[in-house]
Amino acid sequence: MVKDKSCDEVLYDFQHQVENSLLRHKSILDIMTKMEEYNSRMNRAIAKSCTMCGCIEINAKKQQYDGETFEESLKTISSHVKGELCPVCKENLEREIGSYLFYLMAMCNSFGIEISDVLDREYLNTKTLGFFSMK
Ligand SMILES: [Zn+2]
Repeated sequence: MVKDKSCDEVLYDFQHQVENSLLRHKSILDIMTKMEEYNSRMNRAIAKSCTMCGCIEINAKKQQYDGETFEESLKTISSHVKGELCPVCKENLEREIGSYLFYLMAMCNSFGIEISDVLDREYLNTKTLGFFSMK
């Protein structure tokens, strides 16, 4: 159903559906604290994937950039994640991301911000900055 729509249509529909479904957490204070809650829940879902399930490992160390070009450097840099989320952990993380997005849309609505405008601006910034954004 959603996959038949363009990304812009999905964002627009989702943002405006959030506007019409928020009653209990309409206050900006509720929205701000709900975003913090779901930010923590996303991090917790990742931690539990590592420590409880074991489908991923996190091996963090200082990042090293090796390579003459951006593309070469990109191949040598690590996310520090080893393995892949199992279906259960992936579904858990997706659920938490979805809840976070709900409240992000609510925050945008509170201030009359269209999420598609934000994404367009960030896309252009990323495209313009290119290589220099990684430093
Ligand atoms: Zn897992």
